[in-house]
Amino acid sequence: MSQGRVSGSCLCGAVEFHVELPTLFCGHCHCSMCRRNHGAAYVTWFGVLYEQFEIDQGIDVLVRHASSEHGSRRFCGKCGSSLFCESTQHPEHIDIVLANMDGPIDKAPQFHGYWESRADWAQVGDELPRLRADAADD
Ligand SMILES: [Zn+2]
Ligand SMILES: [Zn+2]
Repeated sequence: MSQGRVSGSCLCGAVEFHVELPTLFCGHCHCSMCRRNHGAAYVTWFGVLYEQFEIDQGIDVLVRHASSEHGSRRFCGKCGSSLFCESTQHPEHIDIVLANMDGPIDKAPQFHGYWESRADWAQVGDELPRLRADAADD
């Protein structure tokens, strides 16, 4: 198992957090909510247990948006960076946007989730499994 701490932050730096490795998974999400939320064709998430996650700064500027009946997303209220996704369907772990991390985590992306919802204007050329849905999104 990989050990170590990786820090992350939003675009403006108001929110800082860190995770303790190992992570649970890492994967790309092609759902329509991620697409709109990030203004991107798809978003790469990883998951860690809550006990391996801590917000170091900026909890007061975090804004929560309830994106579904069971899920919510948190973003920086100052700069808009999308940071976390949480769900009552996976109460043991939090989903974190890989792009906001300051360094590498312990695994590369493993799959494409919500493949059926993907944008048809972006091409994906890797050989990762294409899944209809996954734990990386809500
Ligand atoms: Zn910010
Ligand atoms: Zn998604």
